[in-house]
Parts: sequence; structure tokens; C-alpha cells
Amino acid sequence: MSQDLAYAARLLLDAQRIMVFTGAGISTESGIPDFRGTDGIWTKLSPEDFMIDRYVSDRTVRTRAWATRFPKMFGDAQPNGAHEAVVDLWKAGKLIGCVTQNIDGLHQAAGLPQDQIAELHGNSDGIACLRCGAPHDPAEIEQRWVDGDVDPQCDHCGGILKSTIVFFGEVLPHSEIERANHWAAQADAVIAVGSSLSVYPAAYIPLEIASRGDTFVIINNGPTDLDTVASIRLEGMAATLLPQLVGAITA
Ligand code: NAD
Repeated sequence: MSQDLAYAARLLLDAQRIMVFTGAGISTESGIPDFRGTDGIWTKLSPEDFMIDRYVSDRTVRTRAWATRFPKMFGDAQPNGAHEAVVDLWKAGKLIGCVTQNIDGLHQAAGLPQDQIAELHGNSDGIACLRCGAPHDPAEIEQRWVDGDVDPQCDHCGGILKSTIVFFGEVLPHSEIERANHWAAQADAVIAVGSSLSVYPAAYIPLEIASRGDTFVIINNGPTDLDTVASIRLEGMAATLLPQLVGAITA
């Protein structure tokens, strides 16, 4: 165990209400690219395609979005050791909740109950109408898309359909932000894993805990925007470091 990891474990040893805050970097070892890393999504797709104004106004953008969503947005990606370590922390009774910016569902796939997760940026499971809000069955919409409907409309009002991923310019889901804020108010430590900590308002969540003087551990491959306020920063891969850290504080 490195000196930094041992120090992080010492800081967390007495914590009983640890928040885990995750970003796209926790899922890269499951084969899902992040946004800003060297193989990140921004090296292949334009961020503008994820802006709600463009999605609403431009049919070509919607057509591209559906072609990304179907047949499977994340292929056959499976949870890795870092997702499993979050479950271990929960089983040890030390997790207050996991706040994620991810939309891939891998925390749930690893076995973390839905009520332990706040999905700040939505998820890729659902599809809803932007006008009337009606949810639509993804399997049914996929069938329509397979049959050649490249820009499916709402069954009820004819409005634009969109996956329940939060696009740039959309408000965050109220219930999720409320749960994340509730946990942030009660947490006695936070571990941020695989996030550049550069996307707001999400990054306010770990920042609030750190600002109170509670322990803030960052695990990331590369720098983050909040490195200067961290209690300790562990440089490296999430699926290696998080299991080691969780193992050290739950043994
Ligand atoms: P980001 O791309 O800004 O930052 C990810 C960070 O993780 C980078 O600093 C990168 O160097 C680091 N990293 C990559 N692989 C790592 C690994 N194996 N171990 C440790 N660190 C690793 O991502 P973010 O901070 O989550 O930005 C937020 C946005 O990314 C959110 O809006 C989120 O919805 C979106 N996003 C999610 C997914 C997903 O659900 N898996 C994928 C791409 C983007």
C-alpha cells in the first residue's frame, strides 16, 4: 500500500457516513469512454450535440442521438472493481450514498440499491416526451427506430421524445439533486472517483463537504479542478485504488 493510500485510509477510518461521488472515469475500465480523457467522447463527438437547444431545434441532431442510443448505448459494459468497492462500502454500513454523474447504470448493475444512488445527470434507461412528459417504453421506441423511424414522436401529443439523460442546458432532476444535497449535509467524508470535478452544479456536492473541513479524498487518473481543496489525492486507476482503499477501511 502506498503512503498516500495509507494516509487516506487513516483519514477515513473513523468516518461512518461516507459519500462516494463518481464520474465517467469510474467506468472507463468497463470500456465506456469518459468525456475529457485522452480517448474521451469529446475527441469523437461534438459537445454541441448534447445541448438541449440544438436537440429541440435540429432533427439531424436528434437522428444522431437516437443512433447513439440504439441498439445499446453502452454495449455489454459490466461493472468493474471500483463499482464493486462502492457496494462493499455500503455493505460495511459506511456509505451514506453514492452521487453519480454517470448515466450508464453500472452502480445498480454492481448491486447497489437504487435508493443509495443519486443520478444527477439522469440515466439512459428511460425515454420521455419533452412537451407532455409522458414516459415511453424504450423497447417499443427501439422497434420503431429499427423499422426506420429515425426521429420518433410522442404517442400522446406528437412532441419530441428524448432519453432521460440530462443534456447541457436542462435542469437536473429535482429528486436526485435533493437526495444528493441531503446526503451532503450529513456526510462526514467524501471520496470522489474518476471525475474531473469540473461540471457544475454537480461539483458543488463534494465541495460542500470539503468546505466544512470534512475529509475529501480524490481518486483520479490525472488532475481535477478541486485538487487544491482535497485532503489527499490518489493518482491512478479507480478499479485498483478504490478497492484497496475500501478494503483498508472496512477490514
Ligand atoms: P470527465 O470526462 O470530465 O472526467 C473523467 C476523469 O476521470 C478524467 O479526469 C479522467 O482522466 C479520469 N479517468 C479516466 N479513467 C479513469 C480511471 N480508470 N481511473 C481514474 N480516473 C480516470 O467526466 P466527469 O467528471 O464525470 O464529467 C461529467 C460528465 O461526464 C457528466 O455529465 C456525465 O454525465 C458524463 N459522462 C458519463 C459517462 C458514463 O455514464 N459512463 C460517460 C461519459 C460522460
